[in-house]
Amino acid sequence: MSIQYIKGVGPKRAARLKKLNIHTVEDLLYFAPREYDDRTKFKYLSQCIKGEKVSLRVQVSGYPSKLRSRKNLSILKIPVEDQTGNATLVWFNQNYIAQKLSIGDKIAINGKVDYFGNEIQITNPVFEKGNEKKIGKIIPIYPLTDKLTNNEMIKIMENAIKYHVDDIPERLSTSLREELQLMPVKEAIINIHFPKDRAHYIQARRRLVFEELLTLQLGLFLIKSRTKELNKGIQYPHTKDIYDFINNLPFNLTNAQKRVFKEIEADMEKDEQMNRLVQGDVGSGKTIVGILAMFKAWKSGYQSVMMAPTEILATQHYESISNFLSNYNIRCELLVGSLSNKKKEEILDELKRGDIDILVGTHAVIQDKVEFNRLGLAITDEQHRFGVKQRAILSQKGKNPDILVMTATPIPRTLALILYGDLDISIIDELPPGRKEIETYAVGSNMIDRINNFVRKQILEGRQAYIVCPLIEESDTLDVKSAEELYMSLKDETFKEFKVGLLHGRMKSNEKDSIMQKFVDKELDILISTTVIEVGVNVPNVNIMVIYNAERFGLAQLHQLRGRVGRGEYQSYCILINGSNSKISRQRMRILQKSSDGFYISEKDLELRGPGEFFGTRQHGLPELKVANLFSDMNLLKLTQKKAKDILKEDALLLDEKYSLLRQNIISLFKDRINDLILN
Ligand code: ADP
Ligand code: MG
Repeated sequence: MSIQYIKGVGPKRAARLKKLNIHTVEDLLYFAPREYDDRTKFKYLSQCIKGEKVSLRVQVSGYPSKLRSRKNLSILKIPVEDQTGNATLVWFNQNYIAQKLSIGDKIAINGKVDYFGNEIQITNPVFEKGNEKKIGKIIPIYPLTDKLTNNEMIKIMENAIKYHVDDIPERLSTSLREELQLMPVKEAIINIHFPKDRAHYIQARRRLVFEELLTLQLGLFLIKSRTKELNKGIQYPHTKDIYDFINNLPFNLTNAQKRVFKEIEADMEKDEQMNRLVQGDVGSGKTIVGILAMFKAWKSGYQSVMMAPTEILATQHYESISNFLSNYNIRCELLVGSLSNKKKEEILDELKRGDIDILVGTHAVIQDKVEFNRLGLAITDEQHRFGVKQRAILSQKGKNPDILVMTATPIPRTLALILYGDLDISIIDELPPGRKEIETYAVGSNMIDRINNFVRKQILEGRQAYIVCPLIEESDTLDVKSAEELYMSLKDETFKEFKVGLLHGRMKSNEKDSIMQKFVDKELDILISTTVIEVGVNVPNVNIMVIYNAERFGLAQLHQLRGRVGRGEYQSYCILINGSNSKISRQRMRILQKSSDGFYISEKDLELRGPGEFFGTRQHGLPELKVANLFSDMNLLKLTQKKAKDILKEDALLLDEKYSLLRQNIISLFKDRINDLILN
């Protein structure tokens, strides 16, 4: 039912609610408050503590006084008392309140306590005379846009609950609710908006989060099993040649690499389309696993493509792929923006004719004009830098080609199941042997001189260094400015005897590439950079990573940055300059000092900080969550994953009557992705 039918909502308000993505009465009822103002705690004046927000029942004890401040504000003061003391209520620019209150009136108030000498003052309190409706309660605070106040929203919500809460269907079966002790939906909705007390709020939220995550999880599992059935893929024959190739590699594969390749091989030999995510820490050797898959595709006469997020990375991949495959008659080409048009056209022609076996490149490979002859395998490297859409476009370049995505962003498995719900997951959880542990130090800003001396010493010995400048959140411009400032001061003063370069996200990609190339060629000793270097670049001679204001970064991101060093034969160092004194940031730094396990680090980061830095949660293409938070509700997420599996084991298509409401909801939630499902 449309929102307009709610009492108190006309076309104008309906339009404003639509901006909040509220279209129906149900949307409204599931629109959870952002936070709450707990006004349940009544105190006596003698118990008031400075700065605390309290509710009080007081009596007006004197006449109002009106003043005018120097800044021309009108100030109204009204004295009040209870049996334990006195206070003054103060309002700015609200003189009309004087008319509403007379000596002897008993009122309830809520506000923040302030002391002036011995006198208690409460500024701009909420007050009620008579019937207490707003004080002594928990008041919801909604995430709103302009032109809609919280008070209006509360009224709308009260009406919606009064007249429509009974229409909300109970989608969880009684047996499930009893088993997990979940509140009925009606009670949950009432208590998420107007909780009776804290305990009711917690139960209400638990119930709604569970339902939301269960719906999401069931939907994803269904899509996944269904895609498998629908998407007949290429069935590559088994080949032993790949083992010769493996045996002739300059190193032995790690057990983890072998296991993951086996999983890929099995996928490729099935007649279903492969949709696999390979997660592996920085330096765990994902590229070679991708190369093995491409080798296998080539053996059966198919083309492969590998897409990387930056030109530098694409070039590095191209070089190492050509290197590894040099003994075979495999044609590999690089397609990036900086090629001449003539060269590009040549490549496109040959690709279409089928003369090129492996194409490596940046976004350039998903442009319209890129056509393959027989694309059999599409690999995306550093998946978190691409959206779901780009992955889809790439796979449409062929006829159900096998899909492999690789990421170094370690995500706890539970979360990966949600974020990459329609992918199978392989994990390379082992580093090649002989890697030197990177020595990690967390220091305060007072140590900068010593750090600079250390960097100087290493450079004089022939090494190079990365210096990452402070991350300035949500501002590209400031980010660049801070990088430029740091660059200037280091280049002209601290390190004036060395060659220093600057790299940041606002530079054109050919500028970035040329700086990076200079660094690779050792024409630069120090590279000052924003986080653009985070992704997969390999410069083995660099052995120092200095990160300014490390406390502003996510741990997973720091771990990635650290992974840029330790790639050669030299002992490497990561120095985290912690600009904060807080306990939590020291704890976070300690985690990085102690561990080099990306999964452990990201789990810990979630635990300490909630939302990780690893990705914009927006871009992964999941339905929007109304109540649940994928990070802080990790425990409930685990529970729903288990339940969803149980349910589907018992009833693979949710055909039982007791799931019919849940099923309908799944269909409407995943509209475009699920419409060809058997669920219809
Ligand atoms: P990432 O997983 O971060 O993408 P890469 O694939 O770039 O890691 O591998 C990092 C380096 O380790 C490369 O130089 C690669 O050749 C090397 N490497 C990969 N696998 C092994 C192995 N099993 N033994 C030794 N070195 C390896
Ligand atoms: Mg890589």
